[in-house]
Amino acid sequence: MKIKSIGVVGAGQMGNGIAHVMALAGYFVRLNDISQDALDASVQVIDRNLDRQVSRDKISQNDKDAAMARISTTLHIADLGQTDLVIEAATEREEVKQKIFDALLPHLQPHTILTSNTSSISITRLASRTDRPEKFMGFHFMNPVPVMQLVELIRGIATDQETYDSCLAVVNALGKTAASAEDFPAFIVNRILMPMINEAVYTLYEGVGKVSSIDQAMKLGANHPMGPLELADFIGLDTCLAIMNVLHDGLGDTKYRPCPLLSKYVEAGWLGRKTKRGFYDYRGETPVPTR
Ligand code: NAD
Repeated sequence: MKIKSIGVVGAGQMGNGIAHVMALAGYFVRLNDISQDALDASVQVIDRNLDRQVSRDKISQNDKDAAMARISTTLHIADLGQTDLVIEAATEREEVKQKIFDALLPHLQPHTILTSNTSSISITRLASRTDRPEKFMGFHFMNPVPVMQLVELIRGIATDQETYDSCLAVVNALGKTAASAEDFPAFIVNRILMPMINEAVYTLYEGVGKVSSIDQAMKLGANHPMGPLELADFIGLDTCLAIMNVLHDGLGDTKYRPCPLLSKYVEAGWLGRKTKRGFYDYRGETPVPTR
């Protein structure tokens, strides 16, 4: 099936990136959120990020204007009903995603493919509660979406080949590369990445190193472009904790237990860059470590 229009649910850091790359690739995008502020902020971020691409000669001003014209926003999820492919990119909580699908399903066309950008939740379980498990799969972008090359495509038990092929064609049209992952907790990237981030938080919690030494050690000692705590702030500490909980519950192995210090930061509402505080404080000119 040829996909022309895309619905995106959730206009947070992932939703705006997904809308950005889809619109630039020529798809019509309907972006939905429960918060008008999130929708407004999202359009501003897309506008700014496209401007940056124009100033670096990656795209022309015409490309930018055409992409912006292909994006529309709505507070009403029913407005996504006419799209060919829906990508759910709302908060990483299963009950939130479930409610979104319940509200969306009555409005969808029979051919519409339904996907989730979840970092960790079972695709098979999300699919089983919809009317179209064969047309449901995981469509997992990396952050920041306009920059990162990979998209993980995750088949649920019931996902059919036509659905997989249609999603793969979209990934190719974006100029990105797909990695196929089986539907087990946190798939490939986060199954490997999150325990490393969690271990960095344990290293901090046990006083082995401070925030700056842990990040510097991994940048200079393992050649990582970002330190693990800096990366955790970038991803969002609530998202990191949610993924660790899915790994812990789903695989039942104590090696995945979330670090209590990670939970403490989330309890404080210090969720990283998006709330201006996490392992670093971003309220001033330069980030300052909080421990
Ligand atoms: P975020 O907190 O930046 O944004 C979530 C958005 O969802 C918010 O704007 C919120 O208002 C909206 N939302 C909440 N409930 C909603 C509802 N019922 N209907 C519509 N919108 C609703 O989160 P994010 O970092 O963009 O993550 C979104 C999803 O993408 C999660 O599933 C996450 O696991 C996944 N993901 C995140 C990353 C990352 O690095 N942050 C990477 C890959 C995938």
